[in-house]
Amino acid sequence: MTMINECDLNIPKSGLPRLVIVGGGFGGVSLAKELRDQEIQVVLIDKHNYHTFQPLLYQVSTGGLEPDSIAYPLRKILQDSPNNYFRLAEVLEIKPNENSVETNIGEIGYDFLVLATGSKTNFFGNTNIEKNAMAMKTVPQSLNLRSLILENFEDALLTDDLNKREALMNFVIVGGGPTGVELAGALAEIKKGILPKDYPDLDTRIAQINLIQGSDRLLATMSEQASEKAEKFLKKLGVNVYKNMRVTDYDGYNVSTNVDDSFEAATLIWAAGVQGATIKGLNAKDLIVRGNRMKVDEFNKVIGFDNIFAIGDIAMMESENEPYGHPMVAQPAMQQGKHLGKNLLRLIHKKTLLPFKYIDKGSMATVGRNKAVVDMKKFKFQGVFAWFVWMFVHLFFLIGFRNRVVVFVNWVYNYVRFDREARLIIRPFKKKNKL
Ligand SMILES: Cc1cc2nc3c(=O)[nH]c(=O)nc-3n(C[C@H](O)[C@H](O)[C@H](O)COP(=O)(O)OP(=O)(O)OC[C@H]3O[C@@H](n4cnc5c(N)ncnc54)[C@H](O)[C@@H]3O)c2cc1C
Repeated sequence: MTMINECDLNIPKSGLPRLVIVGGGFGGVSLAKELRDQEIQVVLIDKHNYHTFQPLLYQVSTGGLEPDSIAYPLRKILQDSPNNYFRLAEVLEIKPNENSVETNIGEIGYDFLVLATGSKTNFFGNTNIEKNAMAMKTVPQSLNLRSLILENFEDALLTDDLNKREALMNFVIVGGGPTGVELAGALAEIKKGILPKDYPDLDTRIAQINLIQGSDRLLATMSEQASEKAEKFLKKLGVNVYKNMRVTDYDGYNVSTNVDDSFEAATLIWAAGVQGATIKGLNAKDLIVRGNRMKVDEFNKVIGFDNIFAIGDIAMMESENEPYGHPMVAQPAMQQGKHLGKNLLRLIHKKTLLPFKYIDKGSMATVGRNKAVVDMKKFKFQGVFAWFVWMFVHLFFLIGFRNRVVVFVNWVYNYVRFDREARLIIRPFKKKNKL
């Protein structure tokens, strides 16, 4: 008979070693899947009850997809595995001396702990930007952005003040990585294909999409070929691309940069950086490194601890090829989750652990209809074929059959009809310092 320990979030003690995973993102989910029906009790904790497919958040923000189609219930992922439990909770503190974590719904003990908390937006300490800019890391944030974009057009229609109207229709995206590039392309397509039809009584030509990049090229982590082509695609769509420019301040209206202060925009979207989402409690020396990530060894073990591991964005595993750790993208998280699952079973069976080796499957970004760039180890290509590859890969990795079908149908519909029908203000967004 199992005993309920009320301190352990009502999870029965099973006689099996207990693994607590914090975070049901790409890393946490692949780890939990790997340990399905194994001799280990798995407790997955997340502050959301769903997994978010972050690569498609920008399509939610721009009305191309409904939010439900890129989220998937975490309980469903754990179904049919009797040793798996899910708790909807935020982990507040790790207590390594007591082998337990404190959450907002109580405390739970562990034999093994895996931190898979991902990353959060990095505003580099600029509190004004943090207060006034829009971030796009979660489904609720994407819905806020979608509402704000649409509310701005509604407000622009009502004002007689030309400066205000221009600012309402001026979009500044900070950060020319894949997120910034994809968002800029999507907004440019809305300007071209949807605004003139939706707002025939508004001069939509004054809408401006500005993409600001701190370095001298877009998609800086990809090949130069991909950067050049992405910039060309964006310019063709009418996006204003600024390179070697950094946004230094934003009060909700005036955008200051290191070059000049000429932007006035009601919407600034911050896609310029992320940092590890650390949790307090682990105080080993030199543990938190560049990008607020946690240093781990080649087995994903957090430096200084025997039974605590970290995977994905939060983990910094230095290697000869990757002196600053693996890129903060989905593949390392998924591969580390799977590998750690195997290693934990080896640990339980007292076998030696195997070091993690990252297989780089390439990177890609889409700019819009028929326009994408793909870098693979041996091939680099851009254009229509790259766009099909981008779509196929994203559909393949999306979790849930229903989600895949819904996204596919939406994409076909949007392609054929030149449309984005999820442009709905379901939950109005109250922007601070609204114009
Ligand atoms: C807009 C955007 C676009 C992107 N596009 C791409 C792309 O095209 N290709 C690509 O490969 N990568 C892309 N990425 C990056 C990719 O999404 C991340 O690298 C990946 O999600 C990392 O996986 P993870 O498991 O480490 O963390 P995540 O997937 O972020 O999961 C972390 C989980 O931890 C939970 N959590 C965090 N803190 C706590 C806490 N204290 N208590 C409880 N739960 C907690 C969160 O709710 C979340 O569910 C994109 C990211 C963003 C934001």
